[in-house]
Amino acid sequence: MYNVPADFINEAKIWEALEANKNPEPSRIKEVLQKAAEMKGLNADDVAVLTCISDPEMLAELFTAANTVKETIYGKRLVLFAPLYISNLCANECLYCAFRATNKDIDRHALSQEHIAREVEVLINQGHKRVLLVAGESYPNQGFQYVLDSIRTIYGVKNKHGEIRRVNVNVAPLSTDEFKQLKAEGIGTYQIFQETYHHETYHKVHLGGKKRDYNWRAWSLHRAMEAGIDDVGIGVLFGLFDYRFEILAMMQHIRELEDKFGVGPHTISVPRLEPATNSDLASHPPFPVSDIDFRKIVAILRLAVPYTGIIMSTRETAKMRRETFALGVSQISAGSKTNPGGYEEEDEISSQFSLGDHRPLDEVIRDVASMGYIPSFCTACYRLGRTGQDFMDLAKPGDIRLHCAPNGLSSFKEYLQNYAAPETKEIGEKLIRDTIAGMSGIARQRAEKLVKRVEAGRDDVYC
Ligand code: SAM
Ligand code: SF4
Repeated sequence: MYNVPADFINEAKIWEALEANKNPEPSRIKEVLQKAAEMKGLNADDVAVLTCISDPEMLAELFTAANTVKETIYGKRLVLFAPLYISNLCANECLYCAFRATNKDIDRHALSQEHIAREVEVLINQGHKRVLLVAGESYPNQGFQYVLDSIRTIYGVKNKHGEIRRVNVNVAPLSTDEFKQLKAEGIGTYQIFQETYHHETYHKVHLGGKKRDYNWRAWSLHRAMEAGIDDVGIGVLFGLFDYRFEILAMMQHIRELEDKFGVGPHTISVPRLEPATNSDLASHPPFPVSDIDFRKIVAILRLAVPYTGIIMSTRETAKMRRETFALGVSQISAGSKTNPGGYEEEDEISSQFSLGDHRPLDEVIRDVASMGYIPSFCTACYRLGRTGQDFMDLAKPGDIRLHCAPNGLSSFKEYLQNYAAPETKEIGEKLIRDTIAGMSGIARQRAEKLVKRVEAGRDDVYC
């Protein structure tokens, strides 16, 4: 048995909460759902109660509650981004990942800055404005400077179609000093997934390299926030351990950040294990999460931390992604490739894992818009300094809708004018008209003004 080290994850408390709240009465479940409707979040006992729901009627109530919270806070917006894999070099031995050091069956590349610029150009030409920079944990000769150079390269690419306006980053944990350097490059969110908060499992699936150190990873977001990075993202790789445990552990992580820094994570990612080249573990997850449980996870998180964004990647199928929009997802990737250089040239074997949704950006946008969701490319908050506590202060009373709704619409209008296929344009223009018609007050005035400015040929307008 692995000796649990000192960190802020208290496993005994998690098991206690799960044990104390198992088999809840329907009245207790309803009580939690009523509390959730107040949109002030839930405690560990409440969350433990919700993880026990299996009765279809109660599940339906959970999903309805999550949908109400999602629509009240976020409206119909869905923020879009693309991952940009700059390197698959890696010194670690994560048993579930194709990039792990001993996997000889993939081609290894660290993209040159010129190659990164070409990849960015492809993304810009598709209409993307936000990228998530991703890399394995081993950098070419320049070391960590390679990541900093890459961020600068991404922001530096500009063509007649636009530019990338927000670079989020998912790279291995850094020292406080390195985080300061990352911040100085103007990143948006720094995200890192603990993969599993269960110590014993963590050590079973991470066999070599720096990633074996649970604590270095667990404390990394503290270091990032100490270094001044306001927006951080957490996540769990679902399938490695019991999802009920993982949700409660995430709650402990969130509360720990709130206690120390006054603000919790900006986003939560919910990756589910997908097959990866030469990985038995990825093909046979030890704790597979069924589709229904996966939807339940999203709904519970939406209720537990209503103001934290939930990110859904293209690991999931188009169908699952569609289902989870209504349950609380606020950001999605689209048109993704997970091998370095994949936007110029695809190589599925050398990808990090297989994807469930292969559709190009424009098709995803058409689909999302047909469902009544507004695809948003907005980057206003971060560029106006509305990050961390400032963002939460604005978000909590619901004021963010006065900014996000108009900005989402103007950024969508910009996409439709500059990049969309005719069919997408038709659906999108109608959606913008209908959405504005359903708005009132300041939000409507702002939306009309911003959309008109885009119509008149201005790009990048926001409030
Ligand atoms: N290398 C860094 C690290 O491990 O933190 C950062 C990037 S890593 C490429 C991004 C994430 O991909 C990992 O945190 C992990 O959750 C996820 N991942 C790895 N293998 C996966 C698989 N087979 N299926 C789904 N997600 C996977
Ligand atoms: Fe390397 Fe990250 Fe893959 Fe682990 S998950 S092998 S650290 S790229």
